[in-house]
Amino acid sequence: MSRKSKSKNVTSIAIKINSIFVRKLFVNFLILDIFLILILIGLWCIEGEMNFYGELIPNAQRSFNFYPIETSNYTVIWDNGMTMVNEASTLIYSLKKIIIAVGIVEGLFLLDEIIFGTSKTRKVLRPLNEIAETANRLSNIDFDEQKFQSLEDAISKISPVTSDERIHIGDSELQGLEDAINKLLDRMRDSYRQQARFVSDASHELRTPISVIQGYANMLDRWGKDDESVLEESIEAIKSESENMKNLVEQLLFLARGINGKTQLTINEFSLNDMMNEVLEESKMIDRNHIYSYINLEKINIYGDMGLLKQTARILVENASKYTADGENIILRTGINDKGEPYFSVQDNGIGIDEEDVPHIFERFFRADTARVRKNGGTGLGLSIAKWIIDNHKGYFSVLSRKEIGTRITVFLPQKL
Ligand code: ADP
Repeated sequence: MSRKSKSKNVTSIAIKINSIFVRKLFVNFLILDIFLILILIGLWCIEGEMNFYGELIPNAQRSFNFYPIETSNYTVIWDNGMTMVNEASTLIYSLKKIIIAVGIVEGLFLLDEIIFGTSKTRKVLRPLNEIAETANRLSNIDFDEQKFQSLEDAISKISPVTSDERIHIGDSELQGLEDAINKLLDRMRDSYRQQARFVSDASHELRTPISVIQGYANMLDRWGKDDESVLEESIEAIKSESENMKNLVEQLLFLARGINGKTQLTINEFSLNDMMNEVLEESKMIDRNHIYSYINLEKINIYGDMGLLKQTARILVENASKYTADGENIILRTGINDKGEPYFSVQDNGIGIDEEDVPHIFERFFRADTARVRKNGGTGLGLSIAKWIIDNHKGYFSVLSRKEIGTRITVFLPQKL
């Protein structure tokens, strides 16, 4: 059905609704007028009796002669024989005037409804019209194979990974479908870009240890057989670089599995205090250059993947130790904040993080550009792994850091996962 005939349909419905309304309004006015006349006559009669007799006696013979108007009267004969005859022509003429005035006002109302009522009703019905039109458009789409063919052609021409091209076939009826496909394309490209960046970052990072190992292997090949010191230096360097590479590969694998949704969380209830105590004991054993302490305010049980949350705490402790001078304090804490969220934190009084670097520390491969970070820095993946873990626990981080004063990184977890 065409747009025109659709709106014609709605107009005829509006006319019908309006004529019902006008008829009802007319009947209501009529009833109102009759009541008005009766009330006015009643009041006039009562007033006449009161003036004549002094009070209103129910038992009396009453009659009202309306016609002819000139001799019309109201007659009352009481039981004691008293009789009142009030001429009523003045009343009837006044009533006539009142009724004409009221009638004109009512007539104007009716006229307004007759003339403008239909368009007002049409306005009210407009949403119905739109629904009808949309339904009509949708049902027509099914049969319009030509349009689908052009949509299919447009899709097949687009590469979901390379260009930023979008589908545009310029058909308003297929706009919704077009938008949905374009959104899907955007999401696919986003995830493709993420994967591509990951692969390129990873291969870039792996290139350094590989070239270092290659360099030392070449050196060994040339001079190592005869020179004891070259031999020792090369073996030491190869060992340390391959250790670095092993760590890097392990971290990359963790992140890659995370991105692909292959790392599953095993959620259990466990004691956050016990977990932090274990991290404390391990850290004391591995790192004898710092003074570790644990401020344990209350007993807290949380829901989460204990292995992964422990890994997060370890990452924070490792960073604190890397970026804090020997002999300094590293403080672990657990508690519950005023919102009821359990937390754990690691605080150091080390080199601190530049204010402008703080927003970036959770990015992959980010390392602050300071001498100490260059010397001690790891892969730049620790905190991105920690972030992945905490995001997947629906938790969040808070970072408090001042240059040369220290850093406190806190992990907040939801009350219940
Ligand atoms: P890295 O392996 O380099 O430590 P991370 O992802 O764990 O990588 O941390 C990213 C960067 O954040 C670090 O290189 C460092 O610049 C900064 N950073 C993290 N923790 C601290 C800290 N406790 N004190 C100072 N800087 C830190």
